[in-house]
Amino acid sequence: MPTTDAPIAHYQAVADGVFCIETGLYRDGLAACYLLRERDRLAFIDTGTTKTVPSLLGVIADLGLTPEHVDFVIPTHVHLDHAGGAGALMAACPNATLVTHPKGAPHLIDPAKLSAGASAVYGEDAFARDFGALQPVPEARVIAADDGQRFDLAGRALSFIHTPGHANHHGCIFDAGSGGLFTGDTFGISYRAFDTEAGPWLFAPTTPVAFDPDTWQRSLDRMLALEPVAAFLTHYGRIDAPAQQAEQLRRSIRDLAAIALEHADAPQPARKDRIKEAITAHLLTDARGHGCTLDEPRMRDLLAVDLELNAQGLEVWLQRREKPSR
Ligand SMILES: [Zn+2]
Repeated sequence: MPTTDAPIAHYQAVADGVFCIETGLYRDGLAACYLLRERDRLAFIDTGTTKTVPSLLGVIADLGLTPEHVDFVIPTHVHLDHAGGAGALMAACPNATLVTHPKGAPHLIDPAKLSAGASAVYGEDAFARDFGALQPVPEARVIAADDGQRFDLAGRALSFIHTPGHANHHGCIFDAGSGGLFTGDTFGISYRAFDTEAGPWLFAPTTPVAFDPDTWQRSLDRMLALEPVAAFLTHYGRIDAPAQQAEQLRRSIRDLAAIALEHADAPQPARKDRIKEAITAHLLTDARGHGCTLDEPRMRDLLAVDLELNAQGLEVWLQRREKPSR
């Protein structure tokens, strides 16, 4: 298989009753979300942003169904590329229940903190332009899912598993119907443009504010114990045989944390930028080692958002470690 930098379909079936939908955030191929169908009932896993919602409703119409057929909206975690559209989607789908991690649920019921946090990370203008305004979800329509809690989509069992490490409010959804696991960001990032003969290339998103490398490795243990036949990544698409790919991600979590620690004594306020330079060099070298033949400006372009967020997240992680503990 040559290096692929091919156009991305607006949506496509990636397993039985599983559709991968392009959210339109920043560029095609960066962020997906998923629609599950069992008979005439539907569930969304992740939502993209508020601006994605009209195209999600378009996919429902394409399938010959209506928003009344949606039973569940399940953000894997409350980062806005995953949950930004949850409020608007819930408003459009009158029969849907929102399911998410107990630590994330309050932020979708009252999104004021999420808006403020995202404005701090992305900048206020960029946040408004790329994500749009967040709508609150009525509390009565929200289930804060216990670890292992099961949901029934027209007889198809979906299990919500708590998977902290990328974020402490992260869950993954195991779909008994396909044998696949919807991994949000916990199985890392793998853009199709970096596929080579060696297969998919994976790396860890160390996004602010709750990166926790050891906890993340334990979440991966739990996910793989489910023996999923596929991982459905928000960034981006279906990865087969996840057990065989996991070591790449485990190594990336260790490497990125180690690079941050190497820079722990770098002078402020430049430390984050030093970390960003170092992880940029590391990831470009890693992709080359995987066989990626894209030119360097193209690789930097494809990774631009992640390099900035990863550097910010590692800086926040160092600061958290430096706080006197007691
Ligand atoms: Zn994400």
